[in-house]
Amino acid sequence: MKIATPEQAEMADIVVCCRKGEPTQFTDNEEGECSWCGHAAFFRPHAPKTPPRVCGTCFLAWAGQRQ
Ligand SMILES: [Zn+2]
Repeated sequence: MKIATPEQAEMADIVVCCRKGEPTQFTDNEEGECSWCGHAAFFRPHAPKTPPRVCGTCFLAWAGQRQ
């Protein structure tokens, strides 16, 4: 999943991350947990610090509710 377009960045009130255990091409990820479900997850170090960090599973559920 890529959240990289300017429009998506503008409306970013959450930061989407991958659940721990999912494949990643990066080796410098920061480990943490999903703000919503508490599942172990990892984030890019440059991810915004302010918005809640949520895992992809929570994001998809949230995005689905908004439609
Ligand atoms: Zn979650």
